[in-house]
Amino acid sequence: MAASIPPATVGRLVTYLRVVDEFAAVGVERVSSDELGERAGTSAFQVRKDLATCGRFGTRGSGYTVATLERELRRVLGLTRSWPVAIVGMGRIGQALADYPNFGRQDFVLSGAFDVDPAKVGMRAGSLLIRHLDDLPDVVREHGIEMAFLTVPADAAQDAAKALVGAGVRGLLNFAPAVIHVPAGVFVESVDFVGGLQRLAFALGGRPASTVGIDG
Ligand code: NAD
Repeated sequence: MAASIPPATVGRLVTYLRVVDEFAAVGVERVSSDELGERAGTSAFQVRKDLATCGRFGTRGSGYTVATLERELRRVLGLTRSWPVAIVGMGRIGQALADYPNFGRQDFVLSGAFDVDPAKVGMRAGSLLIRHLDDLPDVVREHGIEMAFLTVPADAAQDAAKALVGAGVRGLLNFAPAVIHVPAGVFVESVDFVGGLQRLAFALGGRPASTVGIDG
């Protein structure tokens, strides 16, 4: 099932799960595709089409049961258990991640922090003890870690990714401005703040706001 759902749809399913969790938190028991679409920033048609890829659990005309929708979205997204996650690179971003209080309820649990700087190894970051990268295989095995934040400098990213993959980690959330090559069966998602600002610069027309609307 997972491999057959296009990435753009998966992205929207993640958004629907957040919306459904919000509805559940305030005691809403049923939602329509209109309500879901409005909160998720998409159309009711798109909601129905996306949810149809997950199976048949809506009732035409009466919408979706929130609890069922949440359960099915979690099943499709692989969120029926919690995922232990490591952080590799305990600089500014790694430290900020370690201090973050809550990664998707209990879906993701920080279970290891690694660096190569002797000044950082042995220090605490949030609830984690920073270990040397050499300890990665042991910690990965001990905690069953399958995902990691990759928050090292760009020139260290490929080697650190190789160490992670060698230790058995199969999903990398890469913050470094570098293309990471991984073998089949390993997945990389990249976070690019600067790229986001650059896309906004393009969207704003690449010129100062004061000129927008004057010369078209
Ligand atoms: P930082 O320099 O503060 O921290 C990097 C940490 O990685 C350091 O503690 C260093 O000792 C450690 N490190 C180096 N090599 C390592 C290795 N092989 N294994 C484990 N740890 C290693 O960096 P930061 O500001 O936290 O940024 C982290 C990454 O995110 C960088 O690649 C940076 O360029 C990137 N970043 C990207 C954006 C963006 O918009 N794309 C924005 C900010 C930061």
